[in-house]
Amino acid sequence: MAKDDFDLGPSWIWPDIQPELGALIRALQLPVFAQFSDGDMLFEHATGQTPQRYPTMAAAPPSIRVAGGMSTIVSALGKPLPAQCILLDTPITHIASTKEGVDLVTDGRGSISARQAVLAVPPRLAQALIHFSPALDEATVRRWRQTPTWMAPHAKFFALYERPFWRDAGLSGHARSAMGPMTEIHDATTASGQAALFGFLGLSASQRRQFNSETIAQACLLQFARLFGKDAASPRATLFKDWAADPLTATELDQSGGEHPFPASAPWLGEDWQDRLVLAASETSLTEPGYLAGAVEAGQRSAGTVIRRLERAP
Ligand SMILES: Cc1cc2nc3c(=O)[nH]c(=O)nc-3n(C[C@H](O)[C@H](O)[C@H](O)COP(=O)(O)OP(=O)(O)OC[C@H]3O[C@@H](n4cnc5c(N)ncnc54)[C@H](O)[C@@H]3O)c2cc1C
Repeated sequence: MAKDDFDLGPSWIWPDIQPELGALIRALQLPVFAQFSDGDMLFEHATGQTPQRYPTMAAAPPSIRVAGGMSTIVSALGKPLPAQCILLDTPITHIASTKEGVDLVTDGRGSISARQAVLAVPPRLAQALIHFSPALDEATVRRWRQTPTWMAPHAKFFALYERPFWRDAGLSGHARSAMGPMTEIHDATTASGQAALFGFLGLSASQRRQFNSETIAQACLLQFARLFGKDAASPRATLFKDWAADPLTATELDQSGGEHPFPASAPWLGEDWQDRLVLAASETSLTEPGYLAGAVEAGQRSAGTVIRRLERAP
């Protein structure tokens, strides 16, 4: 079977309103499919009450998923690159400005010198993890810290089943809950038919830290069973990803909140760094900051900037 991952991070794209991302996916020839939403949704209003059924409202514009999971975009983008160009599990700890450009110091694999560098790490995270010499100016530090990394405070729970049994009952798998622990639930069945439900946890990052992942899984399965019946209590496997606890995603400042960054055209770097470093994280996008589409827009803009600079340089 082809690679078929569950999307523990981003699930959806909206190509109707994200043309650059849509064009990229078409250029990479990646198959897509619609988020399943046929049938009724459920709403849990209060403890002890039977969940209410309502027709599922189709998302407008439609939410589209990538067959094989979102990581197929990354794999497809990386495929034409020579293998030695990609260093996985190699965090950058220090970026130093040099006469020729920049030195990027890695955690454990020495340093890499370059004339230009593109930093595709969310600004708030980069400020927390990477030491810059010379130091970033105060205004830059303040701005990077104040730029939220969208969705970093969140966590997703998945239950994987032999078949999407809720569809037999005319349910779309979509549910909302005022009781939790999950507040928003969706059908997460993959393009190849691996059945699953997933939900966003409604507990804050600090509340989640008070429980181990087994306790969280039990509470989530109880909720799935309340909503979708006893079959939901016995998945073949569960998955839990707490992004707020991921040190390469979230900082202390991302343990609460969850607001969207605003598009902003002011330069992301002070004068010391402007001619050798470019920020390409989604948060720096002028059109879709925080979204995958923003990462594509910011990446294309950054690549253009670096190419122009290298062509101009002697
Ligand atoms: C739970 C969740 C659900 C989401 N749902 C959606 C959705 O449905 N649709 C959507 O459009 N967006 C969604 N998003 C947002 C989407 O994931 C981001 O927009 C996208 O990942 C941003 O891409 P990026 O390349 O800018 O940054 P990232 O994807 O965050 O990539 C940054 C990379 O830098 C690496 N890194 C961090 N520090 C260092 C370091 N010091 N040195 C080297 N590497 C480092 C990280 O490991 C990571 O691989 C969701 C996010 C989360 C967490």
